[in-house]
Amino acid sequence: MCETQTDQLEAALADKGYRLTKARRAILQALVTSGGHISADDLADIVRRDAPFVGRMTVYRTLDLLSELGLIRPVYQGTGAAHYILLTNGHHHHMVCTVCSAVIEFDDCVVEEMAQLVGERFDFQVEGHLVEFYGRCSNCR
Ligand SMILES: [Zn+2]
Ligand SMILES: [Zn+2]
Ligand SMILES: [Zn+2]
Repeated sequence: MCETQTDQLEAALADKGYRLTKARRAILQALVTSGGHISADDLADIVRRDAPFVGRMTVYRTLDLLSELGLIRPVYQGTGAAHYILLTNGHHHHMVCTVCSAVIEFDDCVVEEMAQLVGERFDFQVEGHLVEFYGRCSNCR
């Protein structure tokens, strides 16, 4: 059976002993459908379109919980609201063009070794990573 990202997130929540309420399911579903990279307010709008019974505060609290569990990460850009990025498998990688702001996603993990090295050096248990490389895309050079 093919496990969807939503299944994986639900399983991770259940593993940690959290109940899969209707609201939490709706929020996870909307997160995955949107592909992540979304602010709390935009996510709340999407969730409430399909599940109007879910309050905005519930969306905020669930995002906090998912962040605490390392399933998503808030990313702050400038002064705007945080965007939440899915770390379903514990990691997420971007290349960001500093000229046109294009974001290229890639799945090959290139930093496992680095994570282990710095983890050992600082006696830190690394549980995930969100990596961004900055530069210029092929259109902007
Ligand atoms: Zn570019
Ligand atoms: Zn991404
Ligand atoms: Zn990785």
